[in-house]
Amino acid sequence: MDITVFGSGYVGLVTAACFADAGNTVVCVDVDARRVETLSRGEVPFYEPGLDQMVRANFQQGRLRFTTDAAEGVSHGLFQFIAVGTPPGEDGSADLKYVLQVADTIGSLVTDYRVVVTKSTVPVGTADKVREALLAALQRRGESVEIDVVSNPEFLKEGAAISDFTKPDRIVIGTDNPRTAELMRALYAPFNHNHDRIVVMDVRSSELTKYAANAMLATRISFMNELANVAEKVGADIEKVRIGIGSDPRIGYHFIYPGCGYGGSCFPKDVKALVHTASESGHAAALLAAVEDVNQRQKRVLFENIRKHFGGDLKGRTVALWGLAFKPNTDDMREASSRVLMEALWESGASVRAFDPVAMHETRKIYGERADLALCDNAEAACEGADVLAIVTEWKQFRSPNFERLKKLLKQPTIFDGRNLYDPQLLRRQGFAYYSIGRAPVG
Ligand code: NAD
Repeated sequence: MDITVFGSGYVGLVTAACFADAGNTVVCVDVDARRVETLSRGEVPFYEPGLDQMVRANFQQGRLRFTTDAAEGVSHGLFQFIAVGTPPGEDGSADLKYVLQVADTIGSLVTDYRVVVTKSTVPVGTADKVREALLAALQRRGESVEIDVVSNPEFLKEGAAISDFTKPDRIVIGTDNPRTAELMRALYAPFNHNHDRIVVMDVRSSELTKYAANAMLATRISFMNELANVAEKVGADIEKVRIGIGSDPRIGYHFIYPGCGYGGSCFPKDVKALVHTASESGHAAALLAAVEDVNQRQKRVLFENIRKHFGGDLKGRTVALWGLAFKPNTDDMREASSRVLMEALWESGASVRAFDPVAMHETRKIYGERADLALCDNAEAACEGADVLAIVTEWKQFRSPNFERLKKLLKQPTIFDGRNLYDPQLLRRQGFAYYSIGRAPVG
């Protein structure tokens, strides 16, 4: 099949590469000329395991190409995917500017029947706005072309994006038109072979499903973080509580890890957007607003512990920081907890020596050169001459460090662990002071 994808970010590029890998011919359109140039050399401008090989192979075999030329994209695909960003506006609502720009572009250029698919995460009612933008552009040209608009939200996780796309838990298709549903079924058939994962529903339910999924996951995290704070106050151990509740199959072990807050390009923005959608519809979503508040507070827990440890004065102190990405296996630092910690430390006059296995380049892009930030070659180098160590991202390689060496490298053998990677008793025996989340500090 012929497919066009607008947007070559995490979602657009994974969508384009996976469809091409299944034998389709895909044109990926982006307005960012530098990105298109990089991709056209077979290079992927961000880190996602397995993606560069897949992009390169399909590019070389002629099933995947990149362009800034929207006309080429519109004339190519029967399916026109919109996978551009939907960043938060000032009031927390999703900014639909890029989505509607693409709809306008398609409407300005289209000559034959097309299925326009919104893959971006968009609020309820967006399909109607996309349809209006398409029609308005067609009217300007005095043309009439049949176009279907389908909602097809994406549930992939950065770091596991390819397997999530090719072996999805579900493929949600929002349309009231049975013919369009059949076209979408045929398109997704290669990823729906093992058993039927396709759920067809009305457009509005489909749009809301994506927000509901992310809000549920964010709620589980904030719930555990809330309880972690209680556990610490009452002398309980949140890790024991986690095991205790996770064993109930109605709760389960997934996604109930306490920590220093969630980040990324999706949970924070999607929870805010859903709160906004609810309020616009006349419903005050108290629970969801609290989920976001708890998260904001949680992102400061490490900093507050460090500040208290140093009696409120951080001037001249140096903190080693392990992990910059918002989670392991990605270089994405959007809304990352590391940023809240670093910025608070800098504001208090402290310096940071940081290491992340893949997000160093991204950090340099965001913060540039600064005297109070040293980007180090490896985890141990970050600890050299630092007062204490803070851990923000649970990369596998941080799980079993050489504690003896760390003790020698740090001025104080003290670890602030935002992801509960270690056993507090083990750390105490190793001679560390150890602060974690929802457990009494030791040492
Ligand atoms: P991104 O910021 O990584 O990429 C967006 C791309 O769209 C950029 O390359 C940008 O240049 C391009 N773009 C902007 N306007 C354009 C236009 N008019 N024509 C063509 N290209 C244009 O975004 P992302 O992380 O891929 O997210 C895209 C959407 O998917 C968002 O709505 C997001 O919420 C949703 N989503 C993201 C994830 C994730 O893990 N990142 C998962 C599921 C859903």
